Formats: sequence, C-alpha cells, structure tokens
Amino acid sequence: MIRTAEAYRDALRDGREVWIDNERVADVTTHPAFKPIIDVKARMYEMAREPAYQDALTYQEDGVRHSTFQRPPRETAHWTDKTTALDMVFNDIGGVVTRVGDETVGEMWSLLDGRDVLAEIDPRFAENIDRHIQAVVEHDVFHVSANTDPKGDRSLPPQEQDPDMMVHVVRETDAGIIIRGAKYETAAAYADQAFLKPTVGAWSNEKLSDYAVGCIVKMGAPGVKHICRTGFAGKGSVADYPLAHRFDEVDVLMVLDDVLIPWEDVFFYRHTRAAQHVRATLHRYSAFPYVLRIQYMADMMIGAAMWNARQTGLDKLQAVREKLADLVCYREGINAHLTSAIALAQRSPAGLLMPHQSMLYAGRVFACSNLPQMMHIARELCGGQICVTPSAAAFQADGTKDWLAKFYSLNDQWQAEDRRKLLAFARDLLNSDYAGHRLTFVQFAQAPHFNHLAAVYNAFDFSGPLDFVRKAASLSDRITGAS
Ligand SMILES: Cc1cc2nc3c(=O)[nH]c(=O)nc-3n(C[C@H](O)[C@H](O)[C@H](O)COP(=O)(O)OP(=O)(O)OC[C@H]3O[C@@H](n4cnc5c(N)ncnc54)[C@H](O)[C@@H]3O)c2cc1C
Repeated sequence: MIRTAEAYRDALRDGREVWIDNERVADVTTHPAFKPIIDVKARMYEMAREPAYQDALTYQEDGVRHSTFQRPPRETAHWTDKTTALDMVFNDIGGVVTRVGDETVGEMWSLLDGRDVLAEIDPRFAENIDRHIQAVVEHDVFHVSANTDPKGDRSLPPQEQDPDMMVHVVRETDAGIIIRGAKYETAAAYADQAFLKPTVGAWSNEKLSDYAVGCIVKMGAPGVKHICRTGFAGKGSVADYPLAHRFDEVDVLMVLDDVLIPWEDVFFYRHTRAAQHVRATLHRYSAFPYVLRIQYMADMMIGAAMWNARQTGLDKLQAVREKLADLVCYREGINAHLTSAIALAQRSPAGLLMPHQSMLYAGRVFACSNLPQMMHIARELCGGQICVTPSAAAFQADGTKDWLAKFYSLNDQWQAEDRRKLLAFARDLLNSDYAGHRLTFVQFAQAPHFNHLAAVYNAFDFSGPLDFVRKAASLSDRITGAS
C-alpha cells in the first residue's frame, strides 16, 4: 500500500511531545522549522502515486503497489530500482535529503539476517522482526534510527553512573517492557517510529544485561519527548539560504521517560549476543543509500564549482581544471564503490542480496573521510565571494541595487541575479551553519570514523593478501594465517 501525503501528515498529529527553542510544538506539520522537510517527505509519498513516477517509485505484488524504497532487496534490480527512484526524488525536490526512510529501513533487514539468534532467545522475537518488516512494506511506514545514547562517562560502566545515560529496561509487565533513557535521532519528530538498539555495549563476558534491548518505539507514545536542536529553516531568507530553508533535517534528543514497549514490538531483550549481532551488521544494507547521498553532494559541489568557473571564465585555466578533476575523481570513486558493491553483491544469511560488504564499507570510508577536503577544494574553486556577498535584499534595495548590479554582472550572459543565486547556493552548500552541520552529519550520523574502519576490517577477506605474500615470500605452508 502506498500512503498518501495527507495520511502521513495526519499521523504526525498524534499529540506527540515536541520541543524546539523553548516552545512546545502544537503541530509539527505547520511549524516553520519542520514544515519544509515534512513537505519533502510528503512529496515522496505524492510522487509514488503520480503516473509520471509511479512505476519507478513503486512495485506491484499480488496486485498491490508498495514502495520501491521499502522493498527488502533480493535481486540486483531491486537495488538499481532504488537508485533510479532516489534520483527521481532528488531531481524533483531539487536537493539532497538523507533521513527520509529509505536510508534507515535497511537496519531492520540486518536484524532479519540475525533471525536465528533471536529465535534461540525467544521465537516470538523472531516473529516480531518478520512482522515489522512486512508492516513497513504494507503500510509504507517512515522509520528512523535510534542508536546513540548520551552515554555519559565512558570510563565508568552504566551501572556506576546515572543509569539513564544508556537506554535500559526498568521493568517487565504483562503488556511489555518499560524502557528509560535517551537517544539522538535525526528526523524523529516527524517520523512514525524508530528501530531502537544499543550503542556499542560495554559488555565483556556478560550474557545478560538490562541495557541489551532492541525494539520499535512509536514516536507519539506516552513518555517519548522530542527535544530538538534549533532549526536552520527560517534563519535568513530562502533566497540567501536556499538549501537550509528547504532541506534541514532536524535532529532530536529523544527522551524515553518510562515508555511502554508492547511485547509485539520487542526484538531482543537482555541477551547481549543479540545486541552484539545487531551492532556488527547494522549498516550492512543502509550504508548503501547513505554513501549514495554523498555522491549527490559531490555532484552539487562539482556543479557549483563548474558554474562558477564558467561564469568567471576560469575554466580555461589548467590549474582550475585540475581542481575540478580532483572533485570528479572523488565523485567517480564513490560511484565505483557503489556500482561494484551491487555488481558483486552477496547473498545474506536470510536470503537477501546485500551489497558487497568490503566494497561498500571501503566506499563509506572513502566518501566520508575525504569529504572535508573535497568541500575545501569546492570552496576554493568558488572563491571568497561566497562569504562576502551581501544579502538578496541588498540586491533589491534602493541605494545598493545599482552598485550590486554593476559589480555582480560579469558579461552579457551572466547578469547579477544569476551570479547572486549561484553564490548563495554555494555558500549554503559549503560555508553556512547548515553546510557545517551536513558535514558533521556525514562524519557521525552512521557512526563515527573509527566504527567505519572497524566495519572495513571485519568485512575484508584477508586470506587473499595473506596467501599472496605467503607464496611471494616463500613462507612455510604450515603457517595458517590465523592470528
Ligand atoms: C548531525 C548528526 C545526526 C545524528 N543522527 C543520529 C541518528 O539519527 N540516530 C542515531 O542513533 N544517532 C545519530 N547521531 C549520533 C551519532 O551516531 C553519534 O554522534 C556517533 O555515534 C558518535 O557518538 P558520540 O557523539 O557520543 O561521540 P563519542 O562516542 O563521544 O565519540 C567521539 C569521538 O571519540 C573517539 N572515540 C569514541 N569511542 C571510540 C572508540 N571505541 N574507539 C576509537 N575512538 C573512539 C572518536 O574519535 C569519536 O569520533 C547523529 C549525530 C550527528 C552529529
């Protein structure tokens, strides 16, 4: 079933407790900080029902249409279909957004791969994951990701500090478990539900822990409080900050003040083995759409830098061309990792098709760790004017408009207004509060760099290089390669 945009907006008016800048938000769908990004998500629902996009954004099963994004991938085309659908969305909205559902739903597929572990603990938990994956497909649910606790002092175990620093189960009831704590979560205030699981646990040889809990949290459930960071939408004018005004994905500290999780929404509880399985495989699928977004960021940087070079005639210079080529190498490097990850995709334990793991994780490191340097190259190519240009209002105002028209018009083709628009776009992409926030998002939102490297280490098959060197260095055949 494909949801309508209005059904999505109605679902957000469920009395949820959302706070931003000292204000209790009565209706997120109309609040200036949330409305633009809710409109983007609503547009995705609308597009799936429009004839021009329907066949790409949906697929049919037993005569019913479902979202291409929510489909658990079983063959190569399911991945290429997702990529095509996302491309249509980004072209339609004229920008890049990440946490709009397709990038988070894959975390549930990872848990499906751990179904046997869950079944060993309690067969009901395995049934719960099956049912929830099906429910996402059937009801087109907007899922977000709740991994990161405030954590507190990491030199102390959770039991030796405020126990709420990590989400934990406080008691069981006939209806379900009661959980307490907090999580950081982008988009929670305007999503339906989150897949909650522990941050890397401080478990050594513990088999059971109240902190090992994985479940679905409904974003409007009693006791769930969304405390949002200040929004970027609404700051300055849309003409000056065209990306921040339309695509700010508001992050939340989601407080869980004794929240009841019904048994049917519990995936695991107390068993650290299940929690460790989830942590080890969490981004097996979802790293793909995450890294794909960074390829679009690279496209935006290339586009902004190239337009600037064309406007100013700098594209004739070899040194400028080399910098543009550096950006292209970055973009194509991401593209190569993603393309090969799908071409070499691997069958998962649950029978899904997962992107080639070491290609995907290496691609995530390549894309995330090089982004700061690439943003700086793009910034350099766009020049200092992105941070010194007056506001759009000054281009209209008596007293300043004639001077700005004079100094921002470059030639017959490039008049002041197009120059101003390009510089405003580049500033919001590379230099504004929003740009800095997006850079931080890329570095952290799917775990920090050390965690990305750990995923590469664990996914790479070291036997090839080991065998190669054993032969090349004439090492003894008795050496097995095990450390
Ligand atoms: C914009 C943004 C959006 C986010 N959205 C979400 C979301 O939607 N859902 C969600 O669950 N989380 C989200 N997060 C949280 C994000 O996952 C965390 O910031 C991240 O996991 C790091 O945790 P931390 O901030 O507590 O940093 P810390 O754990 O304090 O780590 C800080 C630094 O310490 C070092 N460090 C810490 N531990 C180790 C270690 N074991 N080994 C080596 N080095 C280490 C690293 O350099 C690390 O970068 C978001 C974060 C940001 C910035």
